Parts: sequence; C-alpha cells; structure tokens
Amino acid sequence: MTSDRSRGRLIENLIAEGIKDESVLGALEEVPRHFFVEESIAHLAYENRALPIGKRQTISQPFVVALMTEAIMKKPNVSKVLEIGTGCGYQTAILAQLVEHVFSVERIESLSLAARSRIRRLGLENVRIRFGDGLEGWEEHAPYDAVIVTAATSSVPEALKSQVGEDGRIVVPLGRAGFQKLVCLDQTVDGWKETYLESVTFVPLLAGTTQ
Ligand code: SAH
Repeated sequence: MTSDRSRGRLIENLIAEGIKDESVLGALEEVPRHFFVEESIAHLAYENRALPIGKRQTISQPFVVALMTEAIMKKPNVSKVLEIGTGCGYQTAILAQLVEHVFSVERIESLSLAARSRIRRLGLENVRIRFGDGLEGWEEHAPYDAVIVTAATSSVPEALKSQVGEDGRIVVPLGRAGFQKLVCLDQTVDGWKETYLESVTFVPLLAGTTQ
C-alpha cells in the first residue's frame, strides 16, 4: 500500500518547495499520514495536497503543515504549543515529534474523538486533545510558547493572544473565504509584529461547538 517510496517522494517535494528544517522533514517522514484519512483515499495520503476528513473539513496540505511547523520551530526554546483546530490530528502528531507538550482544541466532537484515538494508537503521550471552542484557547495550560491556528480568521481571538507567553508566537491564516495569508505574529515590547509566510486556503475558524 502506502510505500516508503511515496513518503520519500513527498519529502523530496517539500524540499523542492523550500522546506529546510531537517527536524520538520524528519517528523513528516515519521508520521504515517495515511493513518489520518479514510481507507478509501489512503492511496492519496503522500501527495502534496489537502484531503477531506469528513464534516466538511480537511487535512491540510503537507507543504502547509511543514511550513507552519517550521515557523513554530524557528522560535528558540519552544516546548509547549497550543493548536486550534485538531481536525484529524495530523498536525498535532507532527508537533508531538518536535516539542515537549502539545495541547489541541477541536470544535467538532466526532473529529476530536477520532483524533484522540489515533494519537493514542500512535503512542504519542505528550498530547492532550480537548473538545471545545478554540476561540477561548485553553486557559488551564497557559502560557504557551506558541499557538498554531489551523483555520482561517479575520482577526486573532483575544484569548489566544493573552495565552501566549511574553515573547510568544502565533502562526495563523488571516483572512476570510477564498485566499488567506499565512502569517507569523510575534509578541514584542512594541506590540505584535507580523511576518508574511505564504498565501493559503483554510476552512474558517467558527465559534461554538457541534457534534
Ligand atoms: N490541523 C488539521 C487541520 C484541520 S482543518 C490538520 O492537521 O490537517 C481545521 C479544523 O479547525 C477543523 O477540524 C475545524 O472543525 C476546526 N475548527 C474551526 N473552528 C474552530 C474553533 N473555534 N475551535 C476549535 N476548532 C475549530
């Protein structure tokens, strides 16, 4: 089925697209992406594209996962990360290879439960997944070194800004439907400093929870 060769090709593809961080590439090589999608589309898992995961949501394109992870890992001494939008749990599993603690929040209960079970089956013990509204962040474990938002928003929720540490970083797709800009927001003494990363297409960040 999902051969090592197709996983190797994906890594070559990511390098060609500009991903440089060896540890990030190593994590993408390590985590079985086919494990995060339905059996019927598992043969597409190592193509560099987003795929459906049910409930009108998607597993992000590997290039975008790599780019966002790289942006998080460029910050020195990052050990505790909050993810908003667990989805199938793939980005969560990638982060779990690289940092000490990953906390992830998902607003759709069935996706959250499925992601939790995948993470458990992969034996990743440094991950906590919560079903809830990510607009509120996850106060209990704050402050985080970095927050990664994997759904698009026109403005970053205040709760997330207040839950990152003093020199914390937020990686987030900013904008509404259609195309958004993926940016890195760094908290500085002069306020938030924005760095443009890439143009992307994400599902929207929505308020509230649902089954
Ligand atoms: N991180 C995923 C991407 C999932 S798509 C990956 O690895 O591929 C974005 C996810 O964000 C969806 O599952 C969607 O339900 C979720 N989401 C949207 N708004 C949210 C909110 N307010 N709180 C938590 N999750 C949210």
